[in-house]
Amino acid sequence: MYDLILKKRNGGALTDQEIKFFIQNFSDGHVPDYQASALMMATYFSGMSDEETFSMTKAMIESGDTIDLSAISGIKVDKHSTGGVGDKTSIVLAPLVAAAGVPVAKLSGRGLGHTGGTLDKLEAFYGFSSHLSEPDFIESVNRIGIAIAGQTANLCPADKKLYALRDVTATIESVPFIVGSIMSKKLSSGSDAIVLDVKTGSGAFMKTKEDAFTLAEKLVDVGERMGKRIVAVVTEMEQPLGNTIGNALEVREAIETLQGNGPKDLNDLVIYLGSHMLVLGGKVQKFGEGKRKLEELMTNGLGLQKLKELIENQGGDANMVDHPELLPAANFTENIVAPLTGFVSGIVAEEIGMASMLVGAGRETKTSEIDLSAGIELHKKVGEQVEAGEALATIHHDGNRDIKSATKQVENAYSISTERIEQNPLIYGVVDHNGVNML
Ligand code: URA
Repeated sequence: MYDLILKKRNGGALTDQEIKFFIQNFSDGHVPDYQASALMMATYFSGMSDEETFSMTKAMIESGDTIDLSAISGIKVDKHSTGGVGDKTSIVLAPLVAAAGVPVAKLSGRGLGHTGGTLDKLEAFYGFSSHLSEPDFIESVNRIGIAIAGQTANLCPADKKLYALRDVTATIESVPFIVGSIMSKKLSSGSDAIVLDVKTGSGAFMKTKEDAFTLAEKLVDVGERMGKRIVAVVTEMEQPLGNTIGNALEVREAIETLQGNGPKDLNDLVIYLGSHMLVLGGKVQKFGEGKRKLEELMTNGLGLQKLKELIENQGGDANMVDHPELLPAANFTENIVAPLTGFVSGIVAEEIGMASMLVGAGRETKTSEIDLSAGIELHKKVGEQVEAGEALATIHHDGNRDIKSATKQVENAYSISTERIEQNPLIYGVVDHNGVNML
C-alpha cells in the first residue's frame, strides 16, 4: 500500500493489478483506513486515467455478488440520478416506462444528508417493503413489469466501505471515486442499458456544468467499456426539482405528475429521461415517439395504474395512490413569507435540502430515523413574481424540531430581485457513445 500511495501522490498511474490489490484488500479488511484514506486523498488531487477508473470499477464489482437478470425477457433499462433535492423522478419514471413495456428492475438507495432516496419515499406508502429476494425480484418484473428493491448487503461491499471513508475524509467529490461508486452498483445489478441523470448546481455533487460534463463523460466511458449502452443527461440542480422536498410530500407530487398535473420541471425531466429509456429499450425508434407515448400514458392513467401495481406487489397500501390524503401528514406547518415584492431570483437547493434534514425529512447520519411526513413545500420557484408578505414556502413538521434554524435556512435559500430573472435551462446536454451533445 505504501508504494501505491507514493506512486499516486507523485501523480503516477496505478496498474490494473495494483488497483485490484487495493480494492480487494481494503474490502476484506486487510488495508487499514489510514492508508486507504491517504490513497483517496492522493487520488482526489492527482485524479485517475480512464483505464484506472475502469479498473477500479471492475474491481469494485468483483468485490461482491452480481445480479443476473437474463431470466427477464426484453432489454432491461435502468435509471440513476447522481442525487439532488426534491428529486422524485424515479417514482414517476419507473412506472411510466414499465407501462410502456420496458421491464424495470431497479435497485434504489436511501437518502443521506441534503439528498433524498427513492426507498425512503416509497415507504411513505404504508406497508411498502423494499426487501425482495432475488427470485422474487425477477418474478415480479416478469409478472407486472416492475420492481424496486434495496441493494443486498453483498452487492459492491467495496463501495459501502469506500463511501463511508470518503464521507469522513472530504473525498466524496473525487470524480474517479464517484464513477466507481455509481457504475459498480449499476453494472452489478444486471441491466442492459442505463440512463444517468447527472445533476449540476448547488444541490448536486458537481457544482459546475464543466465538472458535471466531465463526470458524465467518464460514466459513459466506463459503461461502454463494460459493453453497456449508456446515456448521461446533464440536468439542472441549482434550485430544487418540483415543488416539494420530503418523503410523503414528494410522493404526493409524484402521483400528481403521473396524473398529468405535475410541476413543469419534474414533468419535462421525466418525459426527457423516459424517452431515452424507451429508445434504449427498443420500444420506439425515435425520441419524439417516446415522448408521445409517455405523455399518452400520463393521460390515460396507465402509468398511475402501474404505480399501484408496484406498491401492492411489494406489500404497500395502493389505495393511498387514489387517496393521497392518507399519506403521512405533519401536524404542524410554518410559512416563510417574502420580505419584499419582486421576483424570485434564486433558491439554493443545498440550503433547502439542509433545512428539510433539520425538520426530519432527511438523514444526518446513515442511522438517523426519518420522519416521512416532514418536509418543505415551495410555493414560488425561480422567475416567479412575489408580493411582500406572500408565502414563499411552507415547512411541514412534527413540533419537536429546530424550526427556528430551518426557517432561517429557507429564508437564506431564497433571493428576491426587483427584475425578473431568466430561469436556467432544465437540461444542459447529453453524453453517449457518440460524444457530447450540448443543448
Ligand atoms: N452517488 C453514489 O452512489 N456514489 C457517489 O460517490 C456519489 C453519488
